[in-house]
Amino acid sequence: MVFENVVAMLDKVSKVMELKEEEKQKLLTFTRVSHDEIEVDGEKYPTWRIVHNDALGPGKGGIRYHPGVSEDEVKSLSFWMSIKNSLAGLPFGGAKGGVIIDPKALVEKLGRKGADKRLEAVSRGFVQKFHNVLGQDIDVPAPDVYTNPQTMGWMLDEFEKLKGKHEPGVFTGKPIALGGIPLRSDSTAKGGYIMFKEIISELKNQDVTIAVQGFGNAGYFFASMAGKDGHRVVAVSDSKGGIYDENGFRVEEVKKIKDEEGSVVNCYKDGGCYGKKISNEELLELDVDFLILAALENQVTTENASKIKAKYVIELANGPVTTEADDILYNNGVVVVPDVLANSGGVVGSYLEWVQNRTGMIFEEDYLVGRLDKIMKKSYHAVDQLHKDKNVNMRVASYVLAIERILGAEKARGRLCCYK
Ligand code: NAD
Repeated sequence: MVFENVVAMLDKVSKVMELKEEEKQKLLTFTRVSHDEIEVDGEKYPTWRIVHNDALGPGKGGIRYHPGVSEDEVKSLSFWMSIKNSLAGLPFGGAKGGVIIDPKALVEKLGRKGADKRLEAVSRGFVQKFHNVLGQDIDVPAPDVYTNPQTMGWMLDEFEKLKGKHEPGVFTGKPIALGGIPLRSDSTAKGGYIMFKEIISELKNQDVTIAVQGFGNAGYFFASMAGKDGHRVVAVSDSKGGIYDENGFRVEEVKKIKDEEGSVVNCYKDGGCYGKKISNEELLELDVDFLILAALENQVTTENASKIKAKYVIELANGPVTTEADDILYNNGVVVVPDVLANSGGVVGSYLEWVQNRTGMIFEEDYLVGRLDKIMKKSYHAVDQLHKDKNVNMRVASYVLAIERILGAEKARGRLCCYK
Protein backbone atom coordinates (compact mmCIF):
# COMPACT_ATOMS: atom_id res chain seq x y z
CA MET A 1 0.00 0.00 0.00
CA VAL A 2 1.35 3.42 -0.88
CA PHE A 3 0.34 6.80 0.46
CA GLU A 4 -0.88 7.86 -2.99
CA ASN A 5 -3.67 5.24 -2.61
CA VAL A 6 -4.56 6.66 0.82
CA VAL A 7 -4.91 10.14 -0.64
CA ALA A 8 -6.98 8.81 -3.57
CA MET A 9 -9.31 6.92 -1.22
CA LEU A 10 -9.63 9.94 1.04
CA ASP A 11 -10.53 12.12 -1.97
CA LYS A 12 -13.23 9.66 -2.96
CA VAL A 13 -14.71 9.54 0.56
CA SER A 14 -14.36 13.30 1.05
CA LYS A 15 -16.77 13.86 -1.82
CA VAL A 16 -19.41 11.61 -0.25
CA MET A 17 -18.93 13.22 3.17
CA GLU A 18 -18.42 16.75 1.81
CA LEU A 19 -15.38 17.14 4.05
CA LYS A 20 -13.86 20.57 4.54
CA GLU A 21 -10.22 21.10 3.57
CA GLU A 22 -9.30 21.45 7.27
CA GLU A 23 -10.85 18.07 8.04
CA LYS A 24 -9.02 16.45 5.15
CA GLN A 25 -5.74 17.98 6.27
CA LYS A 26 -6.33 16.69 9.80
CA LEU A 27 -6.61 13.16 8.40
CA LEU A 28 -3.44 13.59 6.38
CA THR A 29 -1.44 14.76 9.43
CA PHE A 30 0.40 12.22 11.59
CA THR A 31 0.38 12.32 15.39
CA ARG A 32 3.92 10.92 15.71
CA VAL A 33 6.56 9.62 13.31
CA SER A 34 9.44 7.86 15.09
CA HIS A 35 12.38 6.67 13.01
CA ASP A 36 15.67 5.10 14.06
CA GLU A 37 18.19 2.42 13.17
CA ILE A 38 18.76 -0.81 15.11
CA GLU A 39 22.33 -2.14 14.99
CA VAL A 40 23.13 -5.79 15.71
CA ASP A 41 26.56 -7.37 15.06
CA GLY A 42 27.50 -4.53 12.74
CA GLU A 43 24.30 -4.91 10.63
CA LYS A 44 21.96 -1.92 10.48
CA TYR A 45 18.16 -2.23 10.36
CA PRO A 46 16.18 0.99 9.71
CA THR A 47 12.97 1.03 11.71
CA TRP A 48 9.80 3.07 12.19
CA ARG A 49 6.90 3.39 14.59
CA ILE A 50 4.22 5.73 13.36
CA VAL A 51 0.96 6.86 14.99
CA HIS A 52 -1.43 8.25 12.43
CA ASN A 53 -4.11 9.61 14.75
CA ASP A 54 -4.71 9.25 18.49
CA ALA A 55 -8.03 11.11 18.93
CA LEU A 56 -9.90 7.88 19.80
CA GLY A 57 -7.21 6.40 22.04
CA PRO A 58 -3.68 5.00 22.09
CA GLY A 59 -2.11 3.95 18.79
CA LYS A 60 -2.76 0.33 17.78
CA GLY A 61 -1.27 -1.68 14.96
CA GLY A 62 1.29 -4.34 14.09
CA ILE A 63 5.04 -4.35 13.53
CA ARG A 64 6.17 -5.73 10.19
CA TYR A 65 9.59 -7.29 9.49
CA HIS A 66 10.14 -7.16 5.74
CA PRO A 67 12.85 -6.05 3.29
CA GLY A 68 10.29 -3.84 1.50
CA VAL A 69 9.33 -1.74 4.55
CA SER A 70 9.47 2.04 3.97
CA GLU A 71 8.23 5.16 5.75
CA ASP A 72 5.63 5.61 3.02
CA GLU A 73 4.32 2.08 3.62
CA VAL A 74 4.27 2.36 7.43
CA LYS A 75 2.43 5.71 7.17
CA SER A 76 -0.15 4.25 4.78
CA LEU A 77 -0.72 1.21 6.98
CA SER A 78 -1.04 3.36 10.12
CA PHE A 79 -3.74 5.45 8.40
CA TRP A 80 -5.47 2.27 7.44
CA MET A 81 -5.32 1.03 11.07
CA SER A 82 -7.03 4.27 12.16
CA ILE A 83 -9.89 3.40 9.83
CA LYS A 84 -10.08 -0.23 10.93
CA ASN A 85 -9.95 0.49 14.67
CA SER A 86 -12.45 3.32 14.43
CA LEU A 87 -14.86 1.28 12.29
CA ALA A 88 -14.80 -1.55 14.85
CA GLY A 89 -15.71 1.04 17.50
CA LEU A 90 -12.51 0.37 19.46
CA PRO A 91 -10.93 2.95 21.79
CA PHE A 92 -7.77 3.03 19.68
CA GLY A 93 -6.09 5.30 17.20
CA GLY A 94 -4.14 3.89 14.27
CA ALA A 95 -0.45 2.99 14.30
CA LYS A 96 2.03 0.72 12.55
CA GLY A 97 5.68 -0.23 12.87
CA GLY A 98 8.23 -1.75 10.57
CA VAL A 99 11.82 -2.92 10.36
CA ILE A 100 13.73 -3.36 7.10
CA ILE A 101 14.92 -6.92 7.56
CA ASP A 102 14.59 -10.16 5.59
CA PRO A 103 13.78 -12.99 8.03
CA LYS A 104 13.84 -15.64 5.24
CA ALA A 105 17.31 -14.57 4.06
CA LEU A 106 18.49 -14.60 7.69
CA VAL A 107 17.60 -18.29 8.01
CA GLU A 108 19.60 -19.06 4.84
CA LYS A 109 22.56 -17.04 6.12
CA LEU A 110 22.61 -17.91 9.83
CA GLY A 111 20.55 -21.12 10.11
CA ARG A 112 17.30 -21.33 12.13
CA LYS A 113 18.99 -20.87 15.53
CA GLY A 114 21.22 -18.01 14.38
CA ALA A 115 18.27 -16.29 12.69
CA ASP A 116 16.15 -16.54 15.85
CA LYS A 117 18.99 -15.06 17.89
CA ARG A 118 19.25 -12.16 15.44
CA LEU A 119 15.46 -11.63 15.39
CA GLU A 120 15.41 -11.56 19.19
CA ALA A 121 18.20 -8.95 19.25
CA VAL A 122 16.39 -6.83 16.63
CA SER A 123 13.08 -7.10 18.55
CA ARG A 124 14.75 -6.02 21.80
CA GLY A 125 16.52 -3.27 19.81
CA PHE A 126 13.15 -2.02 18.53
CA VAL A 127 11.94 -1.58 22.12
CA GLN A 128 15.21 0.06 23.23
CA LYS A 129 14.74 2.66 20.48
CA PHE A 130 11.02 3.29 20.94
CA HIS A 131 10.07 2.43 24.54
CA ASN A 132 9.33 6.07 25.34
CA VAL A 133 6.61 6.22 22.69
CA LEU A 134 5.08 2.83 23.57
CA GLY A 135 2.77 1.96 26.47
CA GLN A 136 -0.69 0.57 27.14
CA ASP A 137 -2.03 4.16 27.14
CA ILE A 138 0.31 5.49 24.44
CA ASP A 139 0.80 3.05 21.58
CA VAL A 140 0.18 -0.71 21.57
CA PRO A 141 1.93 -2.86 18.91
CA ALA A 142 1.01 -6.39 17.76
CA PRO A 143 2.41 -8.94 15.28
CA ASP A 144 2.18 -8.37 11.52
CA VAL A 145 4.02 -9.82 8.51
CA TYR A 146 6.91 -12.05 9.71
CA THR A 147 6.40 -11.22 13.38
CA ASN A 148 4.53 -13.50 15.78
CA PRO A 149 3.68 -14.14 19.46
CA GLN A 150 7.36 -14.93 20.19
CA THR A 151 8.37 -11.50 18.82
CA MET A 152 5.85 -9.90 21.19
CA GLY A 153 7.22 -12.01 24.08
CA TRP A 154 10.77 -10.69 23.51
CA MET A 155 9.49 -7.14 23.15
CA LEU A 156 7.38 -7.29 26.30
CA ASP A 157 10.32 -8.64 28.30
CA GLU A 158 12.59 -5.85 27.08
CA PHE A 159 9.97 -3.19 27.74
CA GLU A 160 9.26 -4.35 31.30
CA LYS A 161 13.00 -4.60 31.99
CA LEU A 162 13.50 -0.99 30.89
CA LYS A 163 10.48 0.30 32.82
CA GLY A 164 11.04 -1.83 35.94
CA LYS A 165 7.40 -2.89 36.14
CA HIS A 166 4.88 -5.22 34.53
CA GLU A 167 2.69 -3.80 31.77
CA PRO A 168 1.41 -6.68 29.62
CA GLY A 169 -1.15 -4.44 27.87
CA VAL A 170 1.62 -2.67 25.93
CA PHE A 171 1.73 -5.48 23.34
CA THR A 172 -1.02 -7.76 22.05
CA GLY A 173 -0.77 -11.03 20.15
CA LYS A 174 1.45 -12.32 22.97
CA PRO A 175 1.94 -15.97 23.95
CA ILE A 176 -0.81 -17.15 26.29
CA ALA A 177 1.83 -17.54 29.04
CA LEU A 178 2.31 -13.76 29.00
CA GLY A 179 -1.35 -12.73 28.99
CA GLY A 180 -2.31 -13.54 25.39
CA ILE A 181 -5.78 -14.91 24.66
CA PRO A 182 -6.79 -18.19 23.02
CA LEU A 183 -8.88 -16.39 20.38
CA ARG A 184 -5.96 -14.57 18.77
CA SER A 185 -4.84 -17.11 16.12
CA ASP A 186 -8.23 -17.52 14.42
CA SER A 187 -9.97 -14.27 15.34
CA THR A 188 -9.55 -12.81 11.83
CA ALA A 189 -11.23 -15.80 10.17
CA LYS A 190 -13.87 -15.95 12.92
CA GLY A 191 -14.71 -12.27 12.37
CA GLY A 192 -15.07 -12.74 8.60
CA TYR A 193 -17.15 -15.84 9.18
CA ILE A 194 -19.53 -13.95 11.48
CA MET A 195 -20.15 -11.52 8.57
CA PHE A 196 -20.70 -14.43 6.16
CA LYS A 197 -23.32 -15.84 8.56
CA GLU A 198 -25.05 -12.46 8.77
CA ILE A 199 -25.26 -12.30 4.98
CA ILE A 200 -26.60 -15.81 4.52
CA SER A 201 -29.13 -15.34 7.29
CA GLU A 202 -30.67 -12.68 5.02
CA LEU A 203 -30.67 -14.96 1.96
CA LYS A 204 -33.60 -17.20 1.22
CA ASN A 205 -31.37 -20.02 -0.08
CA GLN A 206 -28.87 -21.17 2.54
CA ASP A 207 -27.29 -23.81 0.25
CA VAL A 208 -24.48 -21.52 -0.86
CA THR A 209 -21.22 -22.36 -2.61
CA ILE A 210 -17.89 -20.94 -1.42
CA ALA A 211 -14.48 -20.59 -3.10
CA VAL A 212 -11.49 -19.68 -0.91
CA GLN A 213 -8.34 -18.18 -2.39
CA GLY A 214 -5.43 -18.77 0.03
CA PHE A 215 -5.45 -21.78 2.35
CA GLY A 216 -3.24 -20.30 5.09
CA ASN A 217 -4.19 -19.08 8.55
CA ALA A 218 -7.16 -16.90 7.57
CA GLY A 219 -8.42 -18.98 4.61
CA TYR A 220 -8.14 -22.38 6.25
CA PHE A 221 -9.93 -21.35 9.48
CA PHE A 222 -12.72 -19.76 7.43
CA ALA A 223 -13.13 -22.86 5.23
CA SER A 224 -13.00 -25.10 8.27
CA MET A 225 -15.83 -23.23 10.04
CA ALA A 226 -17.91 -23.22 6.84
CA GLY A 227 -17.32 -26.96 6.34
CA LYS A 228 -18.26 -27.76 9.95
CA ASP A 229 -21.51 -25.83 9.51
CA GLY A 230 -22.34 -27.93 6.43
CA HIS A 231 -21.68 -25.25 3.78
CA ARG A 232 -20.23 -26.30 0.44
CA VAL A 233 -16.59 -25.21 0.08
CA VAL A 234 -16.23 -26.06 -3.61
CA ALA A 235 -12.78 -24.61 -4.31
CA VAL A 236 -9.62 -23.73 -2.40
CA SER A 237 -6.16 -22.66 -3.51
CA ASP A 238 -2.67 -21.83 -2.34
CA SER A 239 0.40 -20.43 -4.09
CA LYS A 240 0.79 -23.66 -6.13
CA GLY A 241 -2.77 -23.62 -7.55
CA GLY A 242 -6.30 -24.67 -6.70
CA ILE A 243 -8.76 -27.58 -6.58
CA TYR A 244 -12.46 -27.70 -7.39
CA ASP A 245 -15.30 -30.10 -6.56
CA GLU A 246 -18.88 -28.96 -7.11
CA ASN A 247 -20.08 -31.19 -4.25
CA GLY A 248 -17.79 -29.49 -1.75
CA PHE A 249 -14.65 -30.68 0.05
CA ARG A 250 -14.10 -32.24 3.44
CA VAL A 251 -11.95 -29.32 4.52
CA GLU A 252 -9.99 -31.14 7.23
CA GLU A 253 -8.86 -33.77 4.71
CA VAL A 254 -7.64 -31.07 2.33
CA LYS A 255 -5.78 -29.51 5.27
CA LYS A 256 -4.12 -32.85 5.98
CA ILE A 257 -2.89 -33.00 2.38
CA LYS A 258 -1.64 -29.41 2.58
CA ASP A 259 0.23 -30.17 5.82
CA GLU A 260 1.66 -33.49 4.68
CA GLU A 261 2.32 -32.83 0.99
CA GLY A 262 2.92 -29.06 0.98
CA SER A 263 -0.02 -27.91 -1.16
CA VAL A 264 -3.74 -28.43 -1.63
CA VAL A 265 -3.01 -29.51 -5.24
CA ASN A 266 -0.88 -32.46 -4.12
CA CYS A 267 -2.22 -35.95 -3.61
CA TYR A 268 -1.49 -38.44 -0.87
CA LYS A 269 1.41 -40.73 -1.69
CA ASP A 270 -1.13 -43.60 -1.80
CA GLY A 271 -2.79 -41.81 -4.73
CA GLY A 272 -5.81 -40.30 -2.97
CA CYS A 273 -6.59 -36.95 -4.62
CA TYR A 274 -9.28 -34.35 -4.13
CA GLY A 275 -11.29 -32.59 -6.81
CA LYS A 276 -9.95 -31.44 -10.14
CA LYS A 277 -7.05 -29.05 -10.40
CA ILE A 278 -7.74 -25.46 -11.39
CA SER A 279 -5.55 -22.37 -11.66
CA ASN A 280 -5.81 -19.46 -9.28
CA GLU A 281 -7.25 -17.34 -12.10
CA GLU A 282 -9.97 -19.95 -12.68
CA LEU A 283 -10.80 -20.03 -8.98
CA LEU A 284 -11.40 -16.29 -8.96
CA GLU A 285 -13.80 -16.54 -11.88
CA LEU A 286 -15.88 -19.49 -10.64
CA ASP A 287 -19.66 -19.22 -10.60
CA VAL A 288 -20.05 -19.40 -6.81
CA ASP A 289 -22.08 -17.47 -4.25
CA PHE A 290 -19.11 -16.43 -2.11
CA LEU A 291 -15.52 -15.72 -3.06
CA ILE A 292 -13.27 -15.46 -0.02
CA LEU A 293 -9.99 -13.68 -0.74
CA ALA A 294 -7.44 -14.76 1.85
CA ALA A 295 -4.08 -14.65 0.06
CA LEU A 296 -2.49 -11.52 -1.34
CA GLU A 297 -3.22 -7.96 -2.37
CA ASN A 298 -4.25 -6.92 -5.93
CA GLN A 299 -5.92 -10.20 -6.93
CA VAL A 300 -9.01 -8.63 -8.50
CA THR A 301 -8.02 -5.83 -10.86
CA THR A 302 -9.43 -4.08 -13.93
CA GLU A 303 -8.13 -7.13 -15.88
CA ASN A 304 -10.44 -9.68 -14.29
CA ALA A 305 -13.10 -7.73 -12.33
CA SER A 306 -15.72 -8.01 -15.04
CA LYS A 307 -15.24 -11.83 -15.08
CA ILE A 308 -16.02 -12.28 -11.37
CA LYS A 309 -19.26 -14.27 -11.10
CA ALA A 310 -19.46 -14.55 -7.30
CA LYS A 311 -22.35 -12.65 -5.74
CA TYR A 312 -20.34 -11.75 -2.63
CA VAL A 313 -16.63 -11.17 -2.16
CA ILE A 314 -15.25 -11.22 1.38
CA GLU A 315 -11.80 -9.68 1.77
CA LEU A 316 -9.96 -11.51 4.54
CA ALA A 317 -6.67 -10.45 2.96
CA ASN A 318 -5.56 -6.85 2.95
CA GLY A 319 -6.23 -5.00 -0.31
CA PRO A 320 -7.06 -7.98 -2.59
CA VAL A 321 -9.41 -5.86 -4.76
CA THR A 322 -8.00 -2.68 -6.34
CA THR A 323 -9.95 0.59 -6.10
CA GLU A 324 -10.76 0.53 -9.82
CA ALA A 325 -11.89 -3.09 -9.68
CA ASP A 326 -14.07 -2.22 -6.71
CA ASP A 327 -16.11 0.16 -8.89
CA ILE A 328 -16.50 -2.45 -11.63
CA LEU A 329 -17.73 -5.07 -9.13
CA TYR A 330 -20.15 -2.58 -7.56
CA ASN A 331 -21.60 -1.66 -10.96
CA ASN A 332 -22.00 -5.40 -11.73
CA GLY A 333 -23.94 -5.92 -8.52
CA VAL A 334 -21.20 -7.86 -6.71
CA VAL A 335 -21.17 -7.03 -3.00
CA VAL A 336 -17.63 -6.65 -1.62
CA VAL A 337 -17.25 -6.86 2.16
CA PRO A 338 -14.05 -4.79 2.42
CA ASP A 339 -10.89 -5.70 4.33
CA VAL A 340 -11.26 -2.90 6.92
CA LEU A 341 -14.52 -4.57 7.94
CA ALA A 342 -14.12 -8.25 7.04
CA ASN A 343 -10.72 -8.87 8.63
CA SER A 344 -11.17 -6.62 11.66
CA GLY A 345 -11.68 -9.71 13.87
CA GLY A 346 -7.91 -9.60 14.42
CA VAL A 347 -7.92 -6.13 15.96
CA VAL A 348 -11.02 -6.94 17.98
CA GLY A 349 -9.09 -9.94 19.36
CA SER A 350 -6.20 -7.60 20.18
CA TYR A 351 -8.56 -5.22 21.94
CA LEU A 352 -9.97 -8.05 24.10
CA GLU A 353 -6.42 -9.09 25.03
CA TRP A 354 -5.62 -5.48 26.00
CA VAL A 355 -8.76 -5.32 28.18
CA GLN A 356 -7.82 -8.62 29.84
CA ASN A 357 -4.31 -7.33 30.57
CA ARG A 358 -5.53 -3.97 31.88
CA THR A 359 -8.20 -5.39 34.17
CA GLY A 360 -6.17 -8.38 35.36
CA MET A 361 -9.13 -10.60 34.52
CA ILE A 362 -8.77 -13.93 32.73
CA PHE A 363 -11.42 -14.21 30.05
CA GLU A 364 -12.88 -17.59 29.08
CA GLU A 365 -12.94 -18.43 25.38
CA ASP A 366 -16.74 -18.44 25.12
CA TYR A 367 -16.85 -14.92 26.59
CA LEU A 368 -14.27 -13.75 24.03
CA VAL A 369 -16.16 -15.36 21.15
CA GLY A 370 -19.39 -13.75 22.36
CA ARG A 371 -17.78 -10.29 22.48
CA LEU A 372 -16.22 -10.77 19.03
CA ASP A 373 -19.60 -11.82 17.66
CA LYS A 374 -21.36 -8.72 19.05
CA ILE A 375 -18.71 -6.26 17.87
CA MET A 376 -18.45 -7.74 14.35
CA LYS A 377 -22.24 -7.86 13.86
CA LYS A 378 -22.59 -4.26 15.03
CA SER A 379 -19.95 -3.05 12.55
CA TYR A 380 -21.39 -5.14 9.72
CA HIS A 381 -24.94 -3.82 10.14
CA ALA A 382 -23.82 -0.19 10.52
CA VAL A 383 -21.86 -0.42 7.25
CA ASP A 384 -24.57 -2.37 5.44
CA GLN A 385 -27.19 0.23 6.41
CA LEU A 386 -25.09 3.18 5.25
CA HIS A 387 -24.14 1.39 2.01
CA LYS A 388 -27.86 0.95 1.25
CA ASP A 389 -28.95 4.41 2.45
CA LYS A 390 -26.27 6.32 0.55
CA ASN A 391 -25.98 4.04 -2.49
CA VAL A 392 -22.25 3.65 -2.04
CA ASN A 393 -20.21 0.47 -1.91
CA MET A 394 -19.39 -1.10 1.45
CA ARG A 395 -15.80 0.14 1.34
CA VAL A 396 -16.83 3.78 1.01
CA ALA A 397 -19.51 3.27 3.69
CA SER A 398 -16.84 1.79 6.02
CA TYR A 399 -14.53 4.76 5.53
CA VAL A 400 -17.38 7.24 6.04
CA LEU A 401 -18.31 5.70 9.40
CA ALA A 402 -14.70 5.43 10.54
CA ILE A 403 -13.83 8.99 9.53
CA GLU A 404 -16.98 10.41 11.14
CA ARG A 405 -15.87 8.88 14.45
CA ILE A 406 -12.28 10.10 14.20
CA LEU A 407 -13.31 13.64 13.30
CA GLY A 408 -16.02 13.54 15.97
CA ALA A 409 -13.35 12.72 18.57
CA GLU A 410 -11.07 15.47 17.21
CA LYS A 411 -13.93 17.94 17.53
CA ALA A 412 -14.84 16.79 21.05
CA ARG A 413 -11.23 17.41 22.05
CA GLY A 414 -11.40 20.91 20.58
CA ARG A 415 -8.61 20.06 18.16
CA LEU A 416 -10.73 20.71 15.10
CA CYS A 417 -12.73 23.87 15.12
CA CYS A 418 -15.61 23.45 12.74
CA TYR A 419 -16.62 19.85 12.27
CA LYS A 420 -20.31 19.89 11.39
P1 NAD B 1 -0.72 -17.18 5.42
O1 NAD B 1 0.68 -16.93 4.97
O2 NAD B 1 -0.98 -18.08 6.55
O3 NAD B 1 -1.58 -17.74 4.18
C1 NAD B 1 -1.55 -17.20 2.90
C2 NAD B 1 -1.98 -18.29 1.94
O4 NAD B 1 -2.11 -17.73 0.65
C3 NAD B 1 -0.99 -19.45 1.82
O5 NAD B 1 -1.70 -20.66 1.83
C4 NAD B 1 -0.36 -19.24 0.46
O6 NAD B 1 0.08 -20.44 -0.14
C5 NAD B 1 -1.51 -18.62 -0.29
N1 NAD B 1 -1.14 -17.92 -1.50
C6 NAD B 1 -0.03 -17.18 -1.75
N2 NAD B 1 -0.06 -16.73 -3.01
C7 NAD B 1 -1.22 -17.17 -3.55
C8 NAD B 1 -1.83 -17.02 -4.81
N3 NAD B 1 -1.26 -16.34 -5.79
N4 NAD B 1 -3.03 -17.61 -5.00
C9 NAD B 1 -3.62 -18.32 -4.03
N5 NAD B 1 -3.09 -18.49 -2.83
C10 NAD B 1 -1.90 -17.93 -2.59
O7 NAD B 1 -1.33 -15.73 5.68
P2 NAD B 1 -2.64 -15.35 6.51
O8 NAD B 1 -2.24 -15.02 7.89
O9 NAD B 1 -3.70 -16.33 6.26
O10 NAD B 1 -3.01 -13.99 5.80
C11 NAD B 1 -3.62 -13.94 4.51
C12 NAD B 1 -4.04 -12.53 4.24
O11 NAD B 1 -4.91 -12.08 5.25
C13 NAD B 1 -2.91 -11.49 4.18
O12 NAD B 1 -3.26 -10.50 3.25
C14 NAD B 1 -2.92 -10.91 5.56
O13 NAD B 1 -2.37 -9.61 5.59
C15 NAD B 1 -4.41 -10.90 5.83
N6 NAD B 1 -4.72 -10.83 7.25
C16 NAD B 1 -4.43 -11.87 8.07
C17 NAD B 1 -4.69 -11.75 9.41
C18 NAD B 1 -4.41 -12.90 10.36
O14 NAD B 1 -4.69 -12.74 11.55
N7 NAD B 1 -3.92 -14.04 9.91
C19 NAD B 1 -5.22 -10.56 9.94
C20 NAD B 1 -5.54 -9.52 9.06
C21 NAD B 1 -5.27 -9.67 7.72
